[in-house]
Amino acid sequence: MKKKPSLGSVYLVGAGPGDPGLMTLKGRRLIEEADCLVYDALGAPAMLGWAKPGCEKIYVGKRSGNHALPQEDINALLVSCAAKYACTVRLKGGDPYVFGRGGEEALALHAAGVPFEVVPGVTSAIAGPACAGIPVTHRGLCTQFTVFTGHEDAAKPESTLDIPGIAAAKGTKVMLMGMGRLRATMEALIAAGQGGNAPAAAVQWATTGRQRRVNATVATLADAVDAAGLGSPAVVVIGEVAALAEQLDFRSRLPLAGKRIVVTRTREQAGVLSEALAAQGAEVDELPTIRITDPTDRHDFASAVVDAPHYDWLVFTSPNGVKRFFRAFFAVYEDIRELGGARIAAIGAGTAAELKAVGLMVDVMPAKAVAEELIAEFDRKADDFGGVANSTVLWVHSEKGRRVVYDELMKRQAIVDECIAYNTVPETEDLSGARARLESEGADIITFTSSSTVRHFMELGIKLPEGCRIASIGPVTTATLAEYGLKPDMESADHTIPGLVEAILKAKS
Ligand code: SAH
Repeated sequence: MKKKPSLGSVYLVGAGPGDPGLMTLKGRRLIEEADCLVYDALGAPAMLGWAKPGCEKIYVGKRSGNHALPQEDINALLVSCAAKYACTVRLKGGDPYVFGRGGEEALALHAAGVPFEVVPGVTSAIAGPACAGIPVTHRGLCTQFTVFTGHEDAAKPESTLDIPGIAAAKGTKVMLMGMGRLRATMEALIAAGQGGNAPAAAVQWATTGRQRRVNATVATLADAVDAAGLGSPAVVVIGEVAALAEQLDFRSRLPLAGKRIVVTRTREQAGVLSEALAAQGAEVDELPTIRITDPTDRHDFASAVVDAPHYDWLVFTSPNGVKRFFRAFFAVYEDIRELGGARIAAIGAGTAAELKAVGLMVDVMPAKAVAEELIAEFDRKADDFGGVANSTVLWVHSEKGRRVVYDELMKRQAIVDECIAYNTVPETEDLSGARARLESEGADIITFTSSSTVRHFMELGIKLPEGCRIASIGPVTTATLAEYGLKPDMESADHTIPGLVEAILKAKS
């Protein structure tokens, strides 16, 4: 037997500049394995969803009105996590060692004898300008670049900022943490010999859907930033390369650039929709209104799964049902063949995809992902398999939800048993602050991907902000919206996630 070390490992992981797609593969794997995640504001909320169930998540950043945990306390916390958890991930925005105080955390871990590793990240100092169309080096324009912090007050005697050195430096200059003192720092640089007419740019929330860029000169940047209302976090770039943004800023040309879209699916499921919208340039806020839990009667669920090999038909009505069913199935059986020769029916491409992942093809699936259509498909295909009368059917579904499948198959003389695989409960936590943001800043579009997301959104008592348009995945969800007096502005034609994205793109153009 391996000896369990008394102290777990701590990984200082660079979370990249904001776009979760810019996280490293190693960083993502560590988040998935982590028993404890320590994070602050600049880590993308989507990354929290990568953690396994039961992972302890500790927020150490600033909350409106509250200060961030002091650095010494974070250091001590990391050391104490190592005593409690085998794998702790400390997520840090960008690269952990670029103005992230990652070095101090590593030194504290080293001093306490805690095994640690650093996983470098994509730094905003380079990726921020890049995603706004500014290469930090460019042949013929510059041969070096300097990165400096604008956090310090250059006029104060204790400042270690080398303003004359920066002003005299050749090539591109990149300033982080400089928005609070932007005007003073630009003035100090000019006073120290920096050319006031040199191109300059500020990029806020770079690499994310909230990205905004302002181009000006060193002398005019502070005014331009004020006029545009840009704030932190932003990178400031000084140098000839800043002018290339006009040609190279690909992000601002994406179809959903500048649109804030709210995704109301569960944290585990939001990813596919969020990524598809983000790829079109949208700023996506995940506001999960429901959470998937075990069914109330776990014993019933387990025995239904054990008995599954005895049925003629297995009917799956959601991806969650498939996932939960086979998690339980493979806890009991080792081989998919032990499921026997049952025919399989499914609603929705996502459900079929989950089935395919365990090696099962679907026999009956309607083109439209609604229960009525599944029944119609059963009727249409009745000749192929002799109808469902007297067949035994196991219906895998959630605790709440419609009973069309059960009622209609019973009407057709099938012998239907239920396998309640999961329950959906309201998500009351606002871990990422998405709910607060929706209420205070509004959004352009809110998406609903099921009736239960609508109901739970309403149950949470969240007010739809003024001017926010509604996108629905299909007629059932639309009907549920109507119960609350709401009418969607766009609806997916084929009731799928790609269809929903298409509807949003179409409504935009
Ligand atoms: N370790 C981080 C930097 C931490 S200091 C890194 O390597 O990126 C925090 C500063 O980083 C912010 O004040 C801002 O200047 C910059 N920053 C971080 N994320 C940013 C983003 N998405 N867009 C623009 N600037 C960002």
